[in-house]
Amino acid sequence: MRFQLQHYIGGQFQSLENEKNVSVFNPANGQELAMVPMASKDLVHEAVVIAKEAQKDWALVPAPKRADYLYAIGLKMKEKKEHLAQVLTKEMGKVIEEARGEVQEGIDMAFYMAGEGRRLFGETTPSELSNKFAMSVRSPIGVVGLITPWNFPVAIATWKSFPAIVAGNTVVWKPATETPMMAYEMAKIFDEVGLPKGVANVVFGSGSDVGTALIEHPDVKVISFTGSTATGRKVAELGGHHLKKVSLEMGGKNAVIIMDDADLDLAVEGVLWSAFGTAGQRCTACSRVIVHKDIKEELEKRLLNAMEQLTIGDGLDESVKIGPVINKTALYKINSYVEIGQQEGAKLLTGGKILKDPPFDQGYFYEPTLFTDVAPDARIAQEEIFGPVVSLISISSLEEAIEVNNSVQYGLSSSIFTKDINKAFQAQRDLDTGIVYVNAGTTGAEIHLPFGGTKGTGNGHRDSGIAALDVYTEWKSIYIDYSGKLQRAQIDTE
Ligand code: NAD
Repeated sequence: MRFQLQHYIGGQFQSLENEKNVSVFNPANGQELAMVPMASKDLVHEAVVIAKEAQKDWALVPAPKRADYLYAIGLKMKEKKEHLAQVLTKEMGKVIEEARGEVQEGIDMAFYMAGEGRRLFGETTPSELSNKFAMSVRSPIGVVGLITPWNFPVAIATWKSFPAIVAGNTVVWKPATETPMMAYEMAKIFDEVGLPKGVANVVFGSGSDVGTALIEHPDVKVISFTGSTATGRKVAELGGHHLKKVSLEMGGKNAVIIMDDADLDLAVEGVLWSAFGTAGQRCTACSRVIVHKDIKEELEKRLLNAMEQLTIGDGLDESVKIGPVINKTALYKINSYVEIGQQEGAKLLTGGKILKDPPFDQGYFYEPTLFTDVAPDARIAQEEIFGPVVSLISISSLEEAIEVNNSVQYGLSSSIFTKDINKAFQAQRDLDTGIVYVNAGTTGAEIHLPFGGTKGTGNGHRDSGIAALDVYTEWKSIYIDYSGKLQRAQIDTE
């Protein structure tokens, strides 16, 4: 019997009669894992009404008590870590070690945001008038709509929902259609720890139906979205029309810069991990390597050697380093970019093929692919491919490397390998990305710093860290005059 997922609304698991359902498949072997219901706009409305009602009480629960629930969620995730990681790998395809890492990221976020329950710092400041007190506090905003992608089905949801919840908001979460099982697992955890009904709701469905309904709903005050830049633009347009606060985390075209003084073995490891981890389907994935011309040939040789060692297969096999990509559409999109690269005159050093023979024939596997002699303005060097494809671009100075890095429409992550402290500092100042790594690849963000990017990657907001609280709170400035008389600011100050 097929496993039937259910929405989680107002503390109840529910699916409706005659609701449309779609199948969820394991991208490693095509096996059907579950059926997921597709909500109607009416159901979204029901969830929002319940979340709105729940928020009135939730906002009055002292923040440290709200945090206790997050702490319990973190503990429950820890207890279920292996189970969650297994489901994640089956549903999304990333290798099990990375799936464990992603679940750990959610656990870290739960404990970190639980700590915020005893902080949520505002400011106290002297008043310019005597016998007057001035302070600012963070206020919850109301119902928050979360729209998340399939590539980090747990971590991203925790980056958004936990700060929203600890700050006194309630959430309605629409996960990606490809990865509803992880959202269902999280709903079970919310239920198991006794999170008050309606504080966290999960509604499954398509972006065009459920996503749009959330953005258009007058009682959803904040939309927090992670996904592609094309979709993010639509979300921003519609959200802007409805005067929503919209936080967007979108695509990337991240680069590793390798200078001629770099530790090459370390740089190769960094490129391998950040380019081919999650089969290149990370928003922070390295898809360009900007290499100094004097070490280009040596780097190509070492990268090719290292890439030969990468084992491809079902991510549940502990020895596998590269799992499948998410679906057939992704597979063919990646392949079409490889064709574009060849037409553009880039030199294909290795890879470039869909793996079609057993044991890969039932899943969606792509060979790790390396291009060299790529022009910085080529499409494969400019557009997000979201697969295991890397372009080598050669440069002759740090200034040129930075210019090439910054020449794309995205600005999420960048990295430089160098032993020269001056170059490292110049690079961290001049690289126009939200995240910069020195002597590490482009992936590896920790949850207590802001996560997000510049230009086409974001719209000025951040997930993670304290910065996330800015998305889910309004500042309220409070003046308490205990002088017993009218004191006029700026006037009665003489
Ligand atoms: P996507 O844009 O196709 O979908 C993201 C979410 O938006 C899904 O839940 C989808 O159902 C929903 N959606 C689709 N159309 C919608 C609409 N018209 N209105 C409202 N919602 C809609 O992205 P994806 O393929 O799921 O994820 C991959 C993309 O996400 C890549 O571009 C990647 O770089 C990006 N990403 C960014 C970050 C970041 O933090 N910057 C993190 C992870 C992934």
